[in-house]
Formats: sequence, C-alpha cells, structure tokens
Amino acid sequence: MSVARFWRETPRRYNLGGSKCSVCGTIYFPPRAVCPQCTHHRQSIEKMLPFQLSGEGEVLSYTIVHEAAEGFEMQVPYALALVKTVEGPVLTGQVVDIDPATLRIGQRVHATFRKLREEGKAGVIHYGYKFAPVEDADPRPPPRTPAATAPATDGAPGDRAAA
Ligand SMILES: [Zn+2]
Repeated sequence: MSVARFWRETPRRYNLGGSKCSVCGTIYFPPRAVCPQCTHHRQSIEKMLPFQLSGEGEVLSYTIVHEAAEGFEMQVPYALALVKTVEGPVLTGQVVDIDPATLRIGQRVHATFRKLREEGKAGVIHYGYKFAPVEDADPRPPPRTPAATAPATDGAPGDRAAA
C-alpha cells in the first residue's frame, strides 16, 4: 500500500470511525456514504452520521498465518481473525497477545493500536488496529448480589425498613 493511501485511510485506522444510518440505524465500518439496507438508498443520502466503534467484539473465525507478507516476517505465525464487533460490523485484524494455537472462535477481543508493519528501506512504520484478548476471568456479569451483602446506602429499602 502506498504511503499516500495509508494516510488517507488513517482516521479510521486509528479511531475505528464508522458511520451509522440515521434512517434504519445500521452501523458500518468502514463508513459508507449511502445505506444499502434502506429500501430506497436515496433516503439515506446525507443521513449517514459518524459513528465511533468501541472496538469490543468476538472472534467469528480466524486463520493462522505461517508465511508472512513482506514486512510481517518477524511476526509469524500469527492469527488473522474476523471479529464481529458488538455494534455489528465485522472487522479483519491480527490477534496479538495470545498464542495463536490457543485462539478459539468466540474469544472476546478488543481493538488495540499497534505497529502494523515497517515498510522497506524507507523505514515507514504503519500503525493501526489489532485485536487483543479480553481476559476470560469475568466473562459474564456476576449474578445479582443478594441484598444482605450489598453495601448499605442511603435510601436503600433496608434502611427505610429499619427507620
Ligand atoms: Zn439505512
């Protein structure tokens, strides 16, 4: 990729800035100028709003890359994954900070900004998003805490009962 093209694409590489159709609510990344979900595409013209993706998602599928493209030689093997974001769009990216052999479908990940590659003799370093695993220690919110163990706060039902 040329340096010029890279820099044109940089805002979304850094920000995960997509777009949202204000007619039907569909979110896109990369951003789109027109919403293909709307029955009459023209109704979405000028109704596409900037939308910031959170970068949170889960691995939909992945492949382990053993032969790297030029500039990625130092990183093989690595996992290249399709990540379904919580907002809906599916992104492609490298998964870092995990042994590729232990990666699994459904792994929760979040976007992180890393060096993507170094380009030849010019030494141009590209940065962009990659994905890192989200710790599985707390995969779901804990069950509702019984009231008896909840910290007492003013206005809690228990206080009123005691008064
Ligand atoms: Zn739409």
